[in-house]
Amino acid sequence: MKDVIVVGGGAAGMMAAIAAAENGNKVTLIERNDKLGKKIFITGKGRCNVTNACDTTEFFNQVISNPKFLYSSIYGYDHDMVYDFFESNSCPLKIERGERVFPVSDHSSDIIRTLENVLKKKNVKILKNKYVTELTVKEGKITGLKIANTRPSKSGSFVTYEPERMTESISAHAVILATGGISYRVTGSDGNMFKLLTKLGHTITELRPGLVPLESKDSWISPLSGLSLKNVSLRLMVNNKKVYDGFGEMLFTHFGISGPLVLTGASYLNKKYACQPCKAIIDLKPALDHDTLDKRILRDFEDNKNKSLKNGISGLLPSKLISVIPLLAGIDEDKKVNEITKEEREKIVHTLKNLEINITGSRDFNEAIITIGGVSTKEINPSTMESKIIKNLFFAGEMIDVDALTGGYNLQIAWSTGHLAGQSVNEL
Ligand SMILES: Cc1cc2nc3c(=O)[nH]c(=O)nc-3n(C[C@H](O)[C@H](O)[C@H](O)COP(=O)(O)OP(=O)(O)OC[C@H]3O[C@@H](n4cnc5c(N)ncnc54)[C@H](O)[C@@H]3O)c2cc1C
Repeated sequence: MKDVIVVGGGAAGMMAAIAAAENGNKVTLIERNDKLGKKIFITGKGRCNVTNACDTTEFFNQVISNPKFLYSSIYGYDHDMVYDFFESNSCPLKIERGERVFPVSDHSSDIIRTLENVLKKKNVKILKNKYVTELTVKEGKITGLKIANTRPSKSGSFVTYEPERMTESISAHAVILATGGISYRVTGSDGNMFKLLTKLGHTITELRPGLVPLESKDSWISPLSGLSLKNVSLRLMVNNKKVYDGFGEMLFTHFGISGPLVLTGASYLNKKYACQPCKAIIDLKPALDHDTLDKRILRDFEDNKNKSLKNGISGLLPSKLISVIPLLAGIDEDKKVNEITKEEREKIVHTLKNLEINITGSRDFNEAIITIGGVSTKEINPSTMESKIIKNLFFAGEMIDVDALTGGYNLQIAWSTGHLAGQSVNEL
């Protein structure tokens, strides 16, 4: 029987603690907050997209950074096993559009409650309101850590749990770290563990906000705030080179653009751009090719000969966008339809299929669904999740330099790496 400490009561930490407790180990789970699973609570807009039921090979296509690193953990504990875990512990799941898996209840709190019940069944000791301030390493092997009590501190409209000064030491045979990235800090993931690990010789790759909305200073954008577009195409261009091309749903905001399509695109963009000119190009009518769209507009113009341009194109667009198209095409919106030239119509078609937005940056970590970067995968054994630098130290979840697109893939990474790390302590 070994003393195992798991740090971080998120998805990865809870799953790691459950797996580590399978063989009767004495497992302690340490969490700075007053409750477990604060981030899980807000996932999937409160419904928690637990995993994705796609083929495992397809799963790896959705992983942006270091997919190969995840082979052992994902094949060892895949979405079917996650599905069984929740269902066999009285949390029925359902599969929705895009193979996204949710609890039947549509409440993320049921996912947290299920994990808590299993932790209890496995006799995992849970220390809440405790913050790990130091890792104790002797002769290249982890021997324990130091913890401090946390107390609530108001941060805007949120409460975070910050450590007090006094610390106490706890010893352990093995430590599993699952402290997350640095996005949505209010949920507890503050990145301090990265500093501790750097001091101990680990490499932390560059941390960047992932699955994040994009900003633009183009003046026509903010009046569109709240407008959501379905079935549009988005291309992201950096230095005139295409880095992303996708189809789906997007949203205009007061600062720029967001929505599933944009968040996905941003994950590709982050890899490529750093202060380079970047444009988002939206095709508002991807189902119509240039000529078909031109014919459709001609027909609308014929039906509205004596009306203004803005009325002539009103059948094609949501009302908020109607004035934007003439503006960007450089045509007076009040010009009579029967005065519009062929060249001007060509400009309208071009604008509808190439609505161009200058991107000035992305939102910060507070609005990023995930953190790109983390503990270098080169320094972790992918078959065990053990550190290659410090013996008996393991990693799980978002703190590792792996990240995926939206659709339940990031939580699957947390479950799989957590499960493997927990299992691996049994082999020590
Ligand atoms: C708004 C939002 C929606 C999302 N929706 C989905 C979704 O539907 N599906 C999906 O797959 N993914 C989703 N994600 C991503 C997913 O939630 C995360 O990738 C995943 O929860 C990461 O789990 P983790 O356990 O690695 O880290 P975290 O959940 O961040 O857990 C880390 C834990 O460690 C604790 N901790 C940190 N430092 C210390 C310390 N020093 N001492 C003690 N405790 C510490 C923190 O308090 C925290 O509880 C979403 C993310 C966000 C922000």
